[in-house]
Amino acid sequence: MNSALETLRRGFGGDIIEPGGAEYESASRSVLTTGSPAYVLRPKTVEDVRAAVGFAGGSGLALSVRGGGHSFPGFGTNHGGVVIDLSELADIEVVDDERHLVRIGGGATWGQVATALAAHGLAISSGDTRSVGVGGLTLSGGIGWKVRKYGLALDNLVAAEVVIADGEVVTASAEQNPDLFWAIRGGGGNFGVVTAFEFAAHPTTDVFFGKVTFPAAEAGAVLQGWADYLRTAPEELTSIASLANPFAGGPEAPVEIHVAFDGDDAELADRALDPIRRLGTVLDDDVALTPYADILEEGATPPPGIQLVARNGFVERESVPETLRILAEVGTSPGSPLIAVRGVGGAVSKVPDDATAYPHRRAELMVVTLTGGPQPVVEAARPGLDAIWGRLAPQLSGAYANFLSTATEDDVAAVYPAKTYHRLAGIKRRYDPENLFAGNHNVLPE
Ligand code: FAD
Repeated sequence: MNSALETLRRGFGGDIIEPGGAEYESASRSVLTTGSPAYVLRPKTVEDVRAAVGFAGGSGLALSVRGGGHSFPGFGTNHGGVVIDLSELADIEVVDDERHLVRIGGGATWGQVATALAAHGLAISSGDTRSVGVGGLTLSGGIGWKVRKYGLALDNLVAAEVVIADGEVVTASAEQNPDLFWAIRGGGGNFGVVTAFEFAAHPTTDVFFGKVTFPAAEAGAVLQGWADYLRTAPEELTSIASLANPFAGGPEAPVEIHVAFDGDDAELADRALDPIRRLGTVLDDDVALTPYADILEEGATPPPGIQLVARNGFVERESVPETLRILAEVGTSPGSPLIAVRGVGGAVSKVPDDATAYPHRRAELMVVTLTGGPQPVVEAARPGLDAIWGRLAPQLSGAYANFLSTATEDDVAAVYPAKTYHRLAGIKRRYDPENLFAGNHNVLPE
């Protein structure tokens, strides 16, 4: 180990942070998880990433690759292993003005991207939070405020530069290593360290953004009407319904229909939003024209010891009515978790199931529950949560890796149906036969 470390020190231009070092405490944490790695390596260049991957591979220690550090299961850190923290690789550059091609460092956050692209009148549909990483969000999907118009973040990926397990730097695109390009669009961090992403961005104007709220007592009718409307709504409209917001009264909280209309034409926006306003008794409506970069929330780091538990499942058309009936009942009952239902049809569903390693294309909705608190509180809430998911299970199909707090075999099977998993496992064997990149919803080399 000592000689490997000496070799690393000679060739590595970034920071090597070890226990006891000034930065160790913050560097050992990811956003939602406290870790105690033996080494946090913070590369500044692709050559540094290669050296870090070589060191991790030779050390026999567990490896975590950290982009924005927001993974719910805490994939961005570990105990006793190596963390490659990509936060210094965050350059954002428009490389082709005409085709709106943008090259983004593998450790950038979506807030950095939104701010940088605003100056060019461009945006990429990402997530809803500034501090979330481009890496983790894109590699497993990316469901953001323009998802119905432009699809998932990964649907807008054109190429990636990847350091694979043997240290080689390869390009993944439709022309070069297309198997790898297929796999990284949904297969998470299983295949290597993405040091740069190349996206096709979209011209953007200010967008109409906000929420329309309705009484909890109208939850059933509002949710059903909302889901029906999304089937025919213009794709410029992306929407999330939420129930039982703990900061607004829990089970008595109003039903919130969050909307983003992609465009600054007030008449078109009203036409798209009026059916939402007619869903029930409007308690509040704060929809306003807002710069796209400002609609992303800042995001917060919970204090150490606070756990956030996210669970999710997809809903296909035939299961929508019964799922929403259950959610309206649960969301207005004591002890409900925060429930968010995201509309994911539109452009997402126009991509064939097997075109990328994200196979959940036929879903109309995604249901997410969020609970949080100190461990005893989370444990006490678990049986109630299990009961809710037990009721929902017959209606749901599959799961989105990015909103799962666990990574059990069942989770991996929900994220990757057998056909997708099998194809990923074959590609994994080619690019990472020793499973160095295992800090993720892990696909084992076939
Ligand atoms: P990390 O913990 O750094 O990484 C997550 C995984 O990706 C790890 O396995 C890591 O090894 C791998 N990885 C990251 N970067 C790279 C890279 N460059 N190369 C190789 N592997 C890499 N998701 C949505 O789709 N839409 C949302 O609106 C949304 N909002 C969210 C809001 C909050 C507050 C939180 C906590 C999460 C949200 N998510 C959302 C989920 C988010 O997409 C996942 O948590 C995602 O994994 C975060 O990526 P990250 O890079 O920040 O995390």
